Amino acid sequence: MNILVINSGSSSIKYQLIDMPSEIVKASGLIERIGESISKITYKKSEEKITAELPIENHEKGLSEMNRFLMHAEFGVINNINEIHAVGHRVVHGGKDFSGTVEITDEIKEKIKSLSVLAPLHNPNNLIGIEVAEKIFPKAKQLGVFDTAFFQEMPEKAFRYAIPNSFFVEHDIRVYGFHGTSHKFVCEQAISFLSEHKWPSRKLITIHLGNGCSITAIKDGIALDHSLGFGPSNGLIMGTRSGDIDQSVIFYLIDQLGYSPQEVNNVIQKQSGMFGLTGYYDLRDIQEKAKSGDKHCQLALDMNAYRIKKFIGAYASVLNGVDAIVFTAGIGENSSIIRQMVCQEMQYLGIKLNTAKNENLQNGISDISSDDAKVKILVIPTNEELEIAKQSYGLLSE
Ligand code: ADP
Repeated sequence: MNILVINSGSSSIKYQLIDMPSEIVKASGLIERIGESISKITYKKSEEKITAELPIENHEKGLSEMNRFLMHAEFGVINNINEIHAVGHRVVHGGKDFSGTVEITDEIKEKIKSLSVLAPLHNPNNLIGIEVAEKIFPKAKQLGVFDTAFFQEMPEKAFRYAIPNSFFVEHDIRVYGFHGTSHKFVCEQAISFLSEHKWPSRKLITIHLGNGCSITAIKDGIALDHSLGFGPSNGLIMGTRSGDIDQSVIFYLIDQLGYSPQEVNNVIQKQSGMFGLTGYYDLRDIQEKAKSGDKHCQLALDMNAYRIKKFIGAYASVLNGVDAIVFTAGIGENSSIIRQMVCQEMQYLGIKLNTAKNENLQNGISDISSDDAKVKILVIPTNEELEIAKQSYGLLSE
């Protein structure tokens, strides 16, 4: 079954055509700068990569252009659009209503729309992707996979904030979490890897370190706690987001320094984190600068790793121990420095890194723990598109 996975943003669409259940990626690519005078479409089939620059005025035109590649006589992978059996959509916010994948109906679209207040940068664009795909692939089933769904089984003591009950009851103010598709994917990969290696896999801590960063405590495949909350800026230090901050700082900025609430939001979401501490967006630059003696960059790395360590300690308590920790996403998969800094002086938990293995990862899943460690340290490449395809296929096969 061919499943087209779509991640629709405000000016871009990421896509992958995946054959299920074989999990073979037939084609993938990106449509960028939608609405600008010159847009760009990238199409990849196996090792072949083609790019084209042309005006793409809206998402509908974008998907039509993608179709031209998918059905191209020379490098296409399908003969007609009816060979796309289902479209799996990434939807960022499912609120408290969605704990699993659903087939899209008018009612579901209304709910996604109403949840836009909680994810104004994402849900409206995800919805555009759905509505355009309905037009372009009228025979395909449309399915929604929600980033928040994986956290819906979290216990109430973990997802509630200690503010008056009415805010929860009347306004649904609580922890929702994000990056759930990634945490679920690497969790399942870890469980099967650990089982193959006859290692317990009940208590996992998954650490997603990309531009956005989050950490999840997972027991028996179910998320018990998670660092992102009502919005996406809590917890770990991220590319441009602060992570945990005392809310008094916010009121100080407003009351004493004259910032507007919007300006404070901008500071916390877009000017903070590693960028705020160093002036650089890319962790590779920060690592390079730290190496050549830049104190701000070194401090930012120290703070970043320190924050992750604190969460690992907390989540080991939540789980009453830990069988494995998993690093994933751009930084988790590529920065041996951050992994090394996070894992040092963690012997009390049984976390001990093998430095050589940390520097020389395997293809696929890497076990970078030392032989005498009590906790496995895994690096697992995340694959949110494949997870969306798996969940879509799962629902259609029920
Ligand atoms: P997104 O959240 O946008 O999906 P990614 O998962 O792609 O983000 O991660 C982006 C981050 O990964 C960037 O901060 C980038 O600096 C970092 N990164 C990518 N490759 C490396 C590398 N080789 N070493 C260190 N950091 C890296």
